[in-house]
Amino acid sequence: MSVTEDNKARLIMVLRAAGVTETNVVSAMEAVPREMFVPSIFRDKAYDDVTLPIGHHQTVSQPGIVGIMTQALELTDRHKVLEVGTGTGYQTAVLAKLCRRVYTIERHKPLLEEAEQRIQALRLHNVVTKAGDGTLGWPEQAPFDRIIVTAAAADIPPILAGQLREGGIMVVPVGHDPAEQTIVRVRNEDGEITAEEIRDVRFVPLIPEKGED
Ligand code: SAH
Repeated sequence: MSVTEDNKARLIMVLRAAGVTETNVVSAMEAVPREMFVPSIFRDKAYDDVTLPIGHHQTVSQPGIVGIMTQALELTDRHKVLEVGTGTGYQTAVLAKLCRRVYTIERHKPLLEEAEQRIQALRLHNVVTKAGDGTLGWPEQAPFDRIIVTAAAADIPPILAGQLREGGIMVVPVGHDPAEQTIVRVRNEDGEITAEEIRDVRFVPLIPEKGED
């Protein structure tokens, strides 16, 4: 399945409006058919800049936000990336096009299984998946060059920051109030963690295993 020219044009407009200018990010997003990741009743909205429900009270992030967060990661094809919150696997697929390997964790097993099927169908062989609590990170595979969290955390998750390689970057939406979330870029420079705000945004919350939704 490939993205039609018409949809590609819509996607490029959305990304441009969001300020996504890196050509490698735009190309990666052009190469991932978003209609595969949205429920069939919303397929005609797959390239609109909107979040769409995917079941289990979760949503697939809007393409503009996926673009902004991916761009903020400053990825190269040498990077080992941790993603927390696989959801549909759309962001995972975009990451897989841009880095060496993606380790992705999702707490909802049925969502993860569907995501795995899509990843397989797209023949993305550099994705490793795990069902579980992503707030704990993936200690066996740490450190990571890059970490992306696709659900809002109350604060910069310290365990994840601890799994960031020296010189690494983590991008995470911070703030539990849906009206007040900010995409934050965290850097580990000489063992110092610094944070910079990128954009205000809305995300579903990151829920630790003991939590409820
Ligand atoms: N990036 C996804 C959308 C993510 S929605 C996409 O492109 O489709 C946020 C996801 O984070 C949801 O699927 C939710 O179940 C998951 N999530 C929330 N808390 C989590 C946790 N502690 N560990 C792993 N996944 C979590």
